[in-house]
Amino acid sequence: MINMDIKELKSLLETSKKIVVIPHKNPDGDAIGSCVAINEVLKSLGHKSLIISPNNFPEFLKWIDDENEIITYEKNPDSCNNHISEADLIFTLDFNSLSRIGPMGGFVKESKASKIMIDHHQSPEDYAKYIYSDVNMSSTCEMVYHFISKLSLTDRITSKIASALYTGIMTDTGSFKFPLTTSITHNVISELIKKGANGNKINNLVYDNNSYGKILLLSHALSNMVINVEHKTAYMYLSQVNLNKYNFKKGDTEGFVNYGLSIKGVKFAAIFIENEVEKIIKISFRSKGIFNVNEFSRNNFNGGGHINAAGGFSKESLKDTILKFENLLPKYKVELSR
Ligand code: 5GP
Ligand code: MN
Repeated sequence: MINMDIKELKSLLETSKKIVVIPHKNPDGDAIGSCVAINEVLKSLGHKSLIISPNNFPEFLKWIDDENEIITYEKNPDSCNNHISEADLIFTLDFNSLSRIGPMGGFVKESKASKIMIDHHQSPEDYAKYIYSDVNMSSTCEMVYHFISKLSLTDRITSKIASALYTGIMTDTGSFKFPLTTSITHNVISELIKKGANGNKINNLVYDNNSYGKILLLSHALSNMVINVEHKTAYMYLSQVNLNKYNFKKGDTEGFVNYGLSIKGVKFAAIFIENEVEKIIKISFRSKGIFNVNEFSRNNFNGGGHINAAGGFSKESLKDTILKFENLLPKYKVELSR
């Protein structure tokens, strides 16, 4: 869905505006990359723009925000609420439902600001005046490149912006291998390299920055992986005790779920991660082929996402959540065996 009057936006951006840029909770490379890129372009045009993230983001992405400008809502909700209510424009990037930003959602909804959504997830809500939503896009970062290009602002792309966008495209496409990686995606990457993104360096920063604890945590998750041959499913789980033992930090479990999917014959993979503070089990789902994990998560675990990558959560115990998952599989036997 595209509901974006570019001419109108262009003239809106001609005078200085107060702008807030927001990624989803637990932001990933695509969310942080797209926010930093939009924020930098807007600042270069003379706007008073800032990024408010619902909560903190992983260490391996901190280099993108090299001047430590991203504000965390959780740490200072009152001043963030002021920024949100005084904003003229709010960009919501890499999500399409205000429930994805936690308690901030209500304040964004109430703000008089015009909202702009750029996103590639299924089933967008209609809170935004300007909507650029396309489930066939590899990443929000790719869409942000197209958006900048439509506004005739590619000359504003610095090497910082190019690197931020490259990161989001790289992480959301699983390093350019997921089905939505198109020739256009590669064209965008080519332009970003010309603007100063260094793919080798970004790969090292994102993927070769593991703590030893993270590798031990992965080893623990792998050795306890459960394979359900009948339903072509593999899943892993980590309790809070496991996480504490290996000194877990935000982002450490990113990518773990893909190991299940890498096993020959497996079509559906999941990881269940206990979070004692939030009193939830956070779940990631991945699939290959036609099995729709967006729907699976939406219908059973309060979540959503894409057809082959989605997330959700459960308020039951780790044991009961896994039991519920196991009991659901026979219902999907047909889809899983196709
Ligand atoms: P991940 O498993 O990497 O956290 O997320 C996979 C995809 O699903 C991402 O695109 C993410 O934005 C989306 N996602 C993750 N958790 C949730 C959730 O709780 N609700 C919804 N609607 N989407 C989610
Ligand atoms: Mn994304």
